Amino acid sequence: MRTQLLKADESSLKLAAELLKDGQVVGIPTETVYGLGADALNETAVRAIFAAKERPADNPLIVHVADFAELEPLCHVNDMARKLNEAFWPGPLTMILPKKDIVPTVVTAGLESVAIRMPAHPVAQRIIRLSGCPIAAPSANRSGRPSPTQAQHVFEDMDGRIPLIIDGGDSDVGVESTVVSLTGDTAVVLRPGGITPEMIAAVLGTCEVADSVMRPLREGEEAPSPGMKHKHYAPKAPMTLYAGQTAQVARRICAEYDAAKEDGEALILAAHDHLPLYGDRHVFDLGPTAASAAHALFAALRYADTLGVHRVFSEAYPEEGVGLALMNRMARAAGFDIVHV
Ligand code: AMP
Ligand code: MG
Repeated sequence: MRTQLLKADESSLKLAAELLKDGQVVGIPTETVYGLGADALNETAVRAIFAAKERPADNPLIVHVADFAELEPLCHVNDMARKLNEAFWPGPLTMILPKKDIVPTVVTAGLESVAIRMPAHPVAQRIIRLSGCPIAAPSANRSGRPSPTQAQHVFEDMDGRIPLIIDGGDSDVGVESTVVSLTGDTAVVLRPGGITPEMIAAVLGTCEVADSVMRPLREGEEAPSPGMKHKHYAPKAPMTLYAGQTAQVARRICAEYDAAKEDGEALILAAHDHLPLYGDRHVFDLGPTAASAAHALFAALRYADTLGVHRVFSEAYPEEGVGLALMNRMARAAGFDIVHV
Protein backbone atom coordinates (compact mmCIF):
# COMPACT_ATOMS: atom_id res chain seq x y z
CA MET A 1 0.00 0.00 0.00
CA ARG A 2 1.29 3.48 -0.86
CA THR A 3 1.01 5.94 2.03
CA GLN A 4 0.19 9.55 1.16
CA LEU A 5 1.41 12.27 3.51
CA LEU A 6 -0.67 15.41 2.83
CA LYS A 7 -0.75 18.86 4.42
CA ALA A 8 -4.07 19.61 6.10
CA ASP A 9 -6.36 21.54 3.75
CA GLU A 10 -10.00 21.24 2.77
CA SER A 11 -9.35 18.71 -0.02
CA SER A 12 -7.05 16.45 2.04
CA LEU A 13 -9.51 16.53 4.96
CA LYS A 14 -12.34 15.54 2.61
CA LEU A 15 -10.22 12.64 1.35
CA ALA A 16 -9.53 11.60 4.96
CA ALA A 17 -13.27 11.66 5.73
CA GLU A 18 -14.07 9.58 2.61
CA LEU A 19 -11.47 6.96 3.54
CA LEU A 20 -12.82 6.81 7.12
CA LYS A 21 -16.41 6.37 5.88
CA ASP A 22 -15.06 3.58 3.65
CA GLY A 23 -13.65 1.71 6.69
CA GLN A 24 -9.98 2.66 6.18
CA VAL A 25 -7.36 3.84 8.69
CA VAL A 26 -6.00 7.42 8.58
CA GLY A 27 -3.20 9.19 10.52
CA ILE A 28 -4.73 12.26 12.20
CA PRO A 29 -3.12 15.18 14.09
CA THR A 30 -4.45 15.98 17.57
CA GLU A 31 -3.18 18.36 20.25
CA THR A 32 -1.84 15.46 22.37
CA VAL A 33 -0.10 13.16 19.86
CA TYR A 34 -0.96 11.89 16.35
CA GLY A 35 -3.76 9.30 16.24
CA LEU A 36 -4.48 6.32 14.00
CA GLY A 37 -8.19 6.75 13.30
CA ALA A 38 -10.99 4.56 11.96
CA ASP A 39 -14.81 4.44 12.21
CA ALA A 40 -15.38 3.30 15.83
CA LEU A 41 -18.65 1.56 14.92
CA ASN A 42 -17.11 -0.50 12.09
CA GLU A 43 -15.56 -3.60 13.62
CA THR A 44 -13.47 -4.48 10.55
CA ALA A 45 -12.06 -0.95 10.38
CA VAL A 46 -11.13 -1.06 14.08
CA ARG A 47 -9.37 -4.41 13.59
CA ALA A 48 -7.30 -2.75 10.86
CA ILE A 49 -6.00 -0.23 13.45
CA PHE A 50 -4.78 -3.04 15.70
CA ALA A 51 -3.12 -4.71 12.67
CA ALA A 52 -1.37 -1.51 11.47
CA LYS A 53 -0.10 -0.76 15.00
CA GLU A 54 0.65 -4.38 15.90
CA ARG A 55 -1.20 -3.52 19.10
CA PRO A 56 -2.14 -6.32 21.52
CA ALA A 57 -5.93 -6.92 21.30
CA ASP A 58 -6.29 -6.48 25.09
CA ASN A 59 -5.41 -2.77 24.92
CA PRO A 60 -8.59 -0.71 24.28
CA LEU A 61 -8.88 2.38 22.07
CA ILE A 62 -10.13 5.91 22.72
CA VAL A 63 -13.23 7.02 20.77
CA HIS A 64 -13.03 10.62 19.51
CA VAL A 65 -16.08 12.84 19.08
CA ALA A 66 -16.65 16.45 17.99
CA ASP A 67 -19.77 17.22 20.09
CA PHE A 68 -20.91 16.28 23.60
CA ALA A 69 -24.27 15.15 22.16
CA GLU A 70 -22.43 12.34 20.34
CA LEU A 71 -21.84 10.61 23.71
CA GLU A 72 -25.50 9.77 24.22
CA PRO A 73 -25.65 6.71 21.88
CA LEU A 74 -22.17 5.48 22.91
CA CYS A 75 -22.19 5.50 26.72
CA HIS A 76 -24.04 6.31 29.94
CA VAL A 77 -23.28 9.96 30.73
CA ASN A 78 -23.18 11.10 34.39
CA ASP A 79 -22.81 14.42 36.25
CA MET A 80 -19.04 14.16 36.59
CA ALA A 81 -18.79 13.80 32.81
CA ARG A 82 -21.04 16.82 32.25
CA LYS A 83 -18.92 18.97 34.57
CA LEU A 84 -15.62 17.85 33.06
CA ASN A 85 -17.03 18.47 29.58
CA GLU A 86 -17.89 22.05 30.58
CA ALA A 87 -14.44 22.62 32.05
CA PHE A 88 -12.03 20.78 29.73
CA TRP A 89 -13.58 19.70 26.41
CA PRO A 90 -12.46 20.01 23.75
CA GLY A 91 -9.03 19.16 25.18
CA PRO A 92 -6.51 16.54 26.34
CA LEU A 93 -8.86 14.63 28.67
CA THR A 94 -10.27 11.12 28.09
CA MET A 95 -13.28 9.99 30.15
CA ILE A 96 -14.01 6.33 30.92
CA LEU A 97 -17.78 5.73 31.09
CA PRO A 98 -20.06 2.66 31.04
CA LYS A 99 -20.51 1.68 27.40
CA LYS A 100 -23.69 1.03 25.42
CA ASP A 101 -24.14 -1.96 23.09
CA ILE A 102 -23.52 -0.03 19.87
CA VAL A 103 -19.76 0.19 20.65
CA PRO A 104 -18.09 -2.97 19.31
CA THR A 105 -16.20 -4.95 21.96
CA VAL A 106 -13.07 -4.86 19.80
CA VAL A 107 -12.87 -1.10 20.59
CA THR A 108 -12.99 -1.64 24.35
CA ALA A 109 -11.00 -4.90 24.35
CA GLY A 110 -14.01 -6.60 25.92
CA LEU A 111 -14.42 -4.08 28.79
CA GLU A 112 -17.87 -2.85 29.84
CA SER A 113 -16.59 0.75 29.76
CA VAL A 114 -15.51 2.94 26.86
CA ALA A 115 -12.87 5.70 26.69
CA ILE A 116 -14.09 8.94 25.03
CA ARG A 117 -12.35 12.20 24.16
CA MET A 118 -13.19 15.42 22.31
CA PRO A 119 -9.93 16.68 20.78
CA ALA A 120 -9.27 20.43 20.54
CA HIS A 121 -7.17 20.28 17.36
CA PRO A 122 -9.21 21.98 14.59
CA VAL A 123 -8.03 19.43 11.99
CA ALA A 124 -9.15 16.47 14.14
CA GLN A 125 -12.51 18.16 14.80
CA ARG A 126 -13.04 18.88 11.11
CA ILE A 127 -12.22 15.29 10.09
CA ILE A 128 -14.63 13.87 12.69
CA ARG A 129 -17.42 16.21 11.52
CA LEU A 130 -16.84 15.53 7.81
CA SER A 131 -16.76 11.76 8.33
CA GLY A 132 -19.92 11.77 10.44
CA CYS A 133 -18.59 8.90 12.59
CA PRO A 134 -17.08 8.63 16.05
CA ILE A 135 -13.39 7.90 15.44
CA ALA A 136 -11.54 5.21 17.38
CA ALA A 137 -7.90 6.25 17.54
CA PRO A 138 -4.89 5.10 19.55
CA SER A 139 -1.55 6.90 19.21
CA ALA A 140 -0.22 6.45 15.65
CA ASN A 141 3.04 4.69 16.57
CA ARG A 142 3.84 1.03 16.11
CA SER A 143 3.38 -0.74 19.45
CA GLY A 144 6.36 -0.22 21.77
CA ARG A 145 7.61 2.92 19.93
CA PRO A 146 7.33 6.47 21.30
CA SER A 147 4.05 8.20 20.45
CA PRO A 148 4.30 10.39 17.33
CA THR A 149 4.22 14.17 17.83
CA GLN A 150 5.00 15.03 14.17
CA ALA A 151 3.50 13.74 10.89
CA GLN A 152 6.98 12.52 9.90
CA HIS A 153 7.04 10.23 12.99
CA VAL A 154 3.78 8.67 11.83
CA PHE A 155 5.25 8.17 8.37
CA GLU A 156 8.32 6.43 9.86
CA ASP A 157 6.11 3.92 11.67
CA MET A 158 3.18 3.55 9.22
CA ASP A 159 4.64 3.86 5.70
CA GLY A 160 3.04 1.11 3.59
CA ARG A 161 0.49 0.21 6.28
CA ILE A 162 -2.20 2.91 5.90
CA PRO A 163 -3.40 4.95 2.88
CA LEU A 164 -3.19 8.50 4.31
CA ILE A 165 -1.52 10.67 6.97
CA ILE A 166 -2.71 14.27 7.45
CA ASP A 167 0.06 16.70 8.47
CA GLY A 168 -1.37 19.23 10.94
CA GLY A 169 1.97 20.38 12.38
CA ASP A 170 3.61 19.49 15.72
CA SER A 171 1.35 18.22 18.51
CA ASP A 172 0.99 20.94 21.10
CA VAL A 173 0.87 18.97 24.37
CA GLY A 174 3.18 16.16 23.24
CA VAL A 175 2.04 13.50 25.74
CA GLU A 176 -1.14 11.44 25.46
CA SER A 177 -4.40 12.57 27.06
CA THR A 178 -5.18 12.29 30.74
CA VAL A 179 -7.35 9.17 31.23
CA VAL A 180 -9.89 9.58 34.03
CA SER A 181 -12.28 6.83 35.09
CA LEU A 182 -15.80 8.07 35.90
CA THR A 183 -17.37 4.64 36.41
CA GLY A 184 -17.25 4.80 40.24
CA ASP A 185 -18.32 7.35 42.86
CA THR A 186 -15.17 9.44 42.49
CA ALA A 187 -12.96 10.32 39.55
CA VAL A 188 -9.70 8.32 39.31
CA VAL A 189 -6.83 9.31 37.03
CA LEU A 190 -5.52 6.13 35.39
CA ARG A 191 -3.00 7.88 33.14
CA PRO A 192 -1.73 11.43 33.78
CA GLY A 193 -1.68 13.94 30.91
CA GLY A 194 -2.14 17.61 30.07
CA ILE A 195 -5.18 17.99 32.37
CA THR A 196 -3.77 17.46 35.88
CA PRO A 197 -5.45 15.74 38.86
CA GLU A 198 -5.35 19.15 40.59
CA MET A 199 -7.38 20.69 37.73
CA ILE A 200 -9.96 17.86 37.87
CA ALA A 201 -10.25 18.13 41.67
CA ALA A 202 -10.90 21.87 41.32
CA VAL A 203 -14.00 21.03 39.24
CA LEU A 204 -15.30 17.87 40.97
CA GLY A 205 -14.17 18.50 44.56
CA THR A 206 -11.94 15.40 44.64
CA CYS A 207 -9.84 13.36 42.26
CA GLU A 208 -7.82 10.24 43.03
CA VAL A 209 -4.72 9.05 41.18
CA ALA A 210 -4.29 5.31 40.57
CA ASP A 211 -1.20 4.36 42.56
CA SER A 212 0.24 2.40 39.64
CA VAL A 213 0.85 5.69 37.82
CA MET A 214 4.39 6.14 39.16
CA ARG A 215 5.56 2.58 39.70
CA PRO A 216 5.85 -0.63 37.67
CA LEU A 217 3.01 -3.16 37.99
CA ARG A 218 3.69 -5.95 40.44
CA GLU A 219 3.92 -9.54 39.20
CA GLY A 220 0.34 -10.72 38.50
CA GLU A 221 -1.23 -7.32 39.36
CA GLU A 222 -4.15 -6.27 37.14
CA ALA A 223 -3.68 -2.89 35.39
CA PRO A 224 -6.49 -0.37 36.09
CA SER A 225 -5.91 0.90 32.55
CA PRO A 226 -4.89 -2.02 30.29
CA GLY A 227 -2.37 0.11 28.39
CA MET A 228 -0.25 0.49 31.52
CA LYS A 229 0.78 -3.15 31.60
CA HIS A 230 2.46 -2.98 28.22
CA LYS A 231 5.99 -1.71 27.78
CA HIS A 232 5.60 1.79 26.42
CA TYR A 233 7.64 4.72 25.26
CA ALA A 234 11.03 3.05 25.47
CA PRO A 235 14.00 4.13 23.33
CA LYS A 236 16.20 1.33 21.93
CA ALA A 237 19.10 2.27 24.25
CA PRO A 238 18.82 1.83 28.03
CA MET A 239 17.85 5.11 29.70
CA THR A 240 18.45 6.26 33.28
CA LEU A 241 16.81 9.16 35.15
CA TYR A 242 18.63 11.22 37.79
CA ALA A 243 16.65 13.02 40.49
CA GLY A 244 17.99 15.49 43.03
CA GLN A 245 19.58 18.88 43.32
CA THR A 246 20.44 20.38 39.89
CA ALA A 247 24.22 20.80 40.21
CA GLN A 248 24.71 17.35 41.75
CA VAL A 249 22.50 15.71 39.12
CA ALA A 250 24.47 17.38 36.32
CA ARG A 251 27.82 16.34 37.85
CA ARG A 252 26.65 12.74 38.13
CA ILE A 253 25.21 12.65 34.59
CA CYS A 254 28.45 14.12 33.19
CA ALA A 255 30.48 11.40 34.92
CA GLU A 256 28.18 8.60 33.66
CA TYR A 257 28.14 10.10 30.16
CA ASP A 258 31.95 10.39 30.01
CA ALA A 259 32.31 6.75 31.08
CA ALA A 260 29.66 5.59 28.56
CA LYS A 261 31.38 7.53 25.75
CA GLU A 262 34.29 5.11 25.88
CA ASP A 263 31.95 2.48 24.38
CA GLY A 264 30.14 4.66 21.81
CA GLU A 265 27.69 7.56 21.43
CA ALA A 266 25.48 8.64 24.34
CA LEU A 267 22.83 11.33 24.76
CA ILE A 268 21.79 13.59 27.66
CA LEU A 269 18.25 15.03 28.03
CA ALA A 270 18.25 18.23 30.10
CA ALA A 271 16.29 21.38 30.83
CA HIS A 272 17.27 24.45 28.82
CA ASP A 273 18.56 26.44 31.80
CA HIS A 274 20.90 23.59 32.75
CA LEU A 275 22.66 23.30 29.37
CA PRO A 276 25.81 25.19 30.51
CA LEU A 277 26.35 22.53 33.19
CA TYR A 278 26.98 19.90 30.49
CA GLY A 279 29.77 21.68 28.56
CA ASP A 280 30.20 20.39 25.01
CA ARG A 281 28.56 17.00 25.67
CA HIS A 282 25.72 15.88 23.37
CA VAL A 283 22.55 17.25 25.00
CA PHE A 284 18.94 17.30 23.75
CA ASP A 285 17.33 20.53 25.00
CA LEU A 286 13.98 19.79 26.72
CA GLY A 287 13.16 23.50 26.91
CA PRO A 288 12.58 25.74 29.93
CA THR A 289 9.59 24.05 31.66
CA ALA A 290 7.98 20.67 32.44
CA ALA A 291 5.38 21.49 29.75
CA SER A 292 8.10 22.09 27.15
CA ALA A 293 9.79 18.84 28.22
CA ALA A 294 6.48 16.95 27.79
CA HIS A 295 6.17 18.53 24.34
CA ALA A 296 9.73 17.47 23.38
CA LEU A 297 10.13 14.08 25.12
CA PHE A 298 8.90 11.70 22.41
CA ALA A 299 10.87 13.53 19.70
CA ALA A 300 13.94 13.26 21.96
CA LEU A 301 13.46 9.49 22.32
CA ARG A 302 13.07 9.09 18.56
CA TYR A 303 16.20 11.24 18.08
CA ALA A 304 18.13 8.89 20.38
CA ASP A 305 16.96 5.93 18.26
CA THR A 306 17.88 7.67 15.00
CA LEU A 307 21.38 8.51 16.27
CA GLY A 308 21.78 4.93 17.45
CA VAL A 309 23.24 5.97 20.83
CA HIS A 310 23.88 3.14 23.29
CA ARG A 311 22.97 5.06 26.48
CA VAL A 312 20.53 7.86 27.37
CA PHE A 313 20.83 9.92 30.58
CA SER A 314 18.06 12.29 31.60
CA GLU A 315 17.27 14.78 34.31
CA ALA A 316 14.13 13.85 36.30
CA TYR A 317 11.35 16.40 36.99
CA PRO A 318 9.15 17.09 40.04
CA GLU A 319 5.94 14.98 39.86
CA GLU A 320 3.55 17.92 40.13
CA GLY A 321 1.22 19.51 37.59
CA VAL A 322 2.09 18.34 34.08
CA GLY A 323 5.37 17.02 35.58
CA LEU A 324 3.38 13.95 36.74
CA ALA A 325 2.49 13.07 33.12
CA LEU A 326 6.04 13.79 31.99
CA MET A 327 7.58 11.60 34.72
CA ASN A 328 5.02 8.81 34.11
CA ARG A 329 6.30 8.60 30.48
CA MET A 330 9.98 9.17 31.37
CA ALA A 331 9.94 6.49 34.09
CA ARG A 332 8.47 3.96 31.64
CA ALA A 333 11.00 4.93 28.95
CA ALA A 334 13.71 4.28 31.56
CA GLY A 335 12.15 1.00 32.71
CA PHE A 336 11.89 2.71 36.14
CA ASP A 337 15.69 3.02 36.38
CA ILE A 338 15.70 6.18 38.53
CA VAL A 339 18.80 7.20 40.51
CA HIS A 340 18.37 9.55 43.48
CA VAL A 341 21.56 11.58 43.58
P1 AMP B 1 -3.56 5.32 23.41
O1 AMP B 1 -4.55 4.79 22.46
O2 AMP B 1 -2.17 4.92 23.07
O3 AMP B 1 -3.71 6.76 23.67
O4 AMP B 1 -3.93 4.58 24.76
C1 AMP B 1 -5.26 4.59 25.22
C2 AMP B 1 -5.24 4.39 26.70
O5 AMP B 1 -6.57 4.43 27.25
C3 AMP B 1 -4.63 3.06 27.06
O6 AMP B 1 -3.73 3.25 28.12
C4 AMP B 1 -5.83 2.25 27.50
O7 AMP B 1 -5.47 1.29 28.42
C5 AMP B 1 -6.76 3.31 28.06
N1 AMP B 1 -8.17 2.89 27.99
C6 AMP B 1 -8.94 2.83 26.90
N2 AMP B 1 -10.16 2.36 27.18
C7 AMP B 1 -10.18 2.11 28.51
C8 AMP B 1 -11.17 1.61 29.42
N3 AMP B 1 -12.39 1.26 29.01
N4 AMP B 1 -10.83 1.49 30.73
C9 AMP B 1 -9.59 1.84 31.15
N5 AMP B 1 -8.61 2.32 30.34
C10 AMP B 1 -8.90 2.46 29.04
MG1 MG C 1 -0.16 4.74 22.66
